[in-house]
Amino acid sequence: MIPVIALVGRPNVGKSTMFNRLTRSRDAIVANYEGLTRDRKYGEGKFDDRRYMLIDTGGITGEEAGIDSAMAEQSLQAIDEADVVLFMVSSRDGVTSGDFAIAKHLRAQGKKVYLVANKIDGMDPDMVASQFYELGIGEVFATTATHGRGVKSLMETVFEEL
Ligand code: GDP
Ligand code: MG
Repeated sequence: MIPVIALVGRPNVGKSTMFNRLTRSRDAIVANYEGLTRDRKYGEGKFDDRRYMLIDTGGITGEEAGIDSAMAEQSLQAIDEADVVLFMVSSRDGVTSGDFAIAKHLRAQGKKVYLVANKIDGMDPDMVASQFYELGIGEVFATTATHGRGVKSLMETVFEEL
């Protein structure tokens, strides 16, 4: 069985950009528009010679209503299907109430979760990390999905512990 890794987080934090980087596909819809990727999307990634299934999700705001609830449902199903969750947050936005809501849900699930502080470009990783410890997930992996910074060391840790 190949491991399943889900990308979860609020809209616009960089999940689809990370998905494209890890699967080297351009298929996931990447846009500035919040919540454009509304369905789960599956792709195959490779770390060294180990294959894995990656799930992109439309995002979860933590305050779901209307169309958002369908997106949240997709995210919850993806979490359910996954062996590992990459919980993405935006270094630009800092910690939001939505992040807290998602963190709470993930802690209750008991899945292996990695906290990924994306959009670290131009920021001090230590400063960013210190804010996100508040979410109670643990170690903060700082990344730039657009350029790949921090992605290798994140995936190294994921696969070491898998
Ligand atoms: P999603 O809604 O979580 O899937 O987010 P997207 O992957 O669609 O990205 C939303 C926006 O953030 C896009 O304009 C991306 O180009 C941009 N973005 C993603 N990752 C980074 C990053 O590491 N740094 C910066 N500066 N922008 C990023
Ligand atoms: Mg997306």
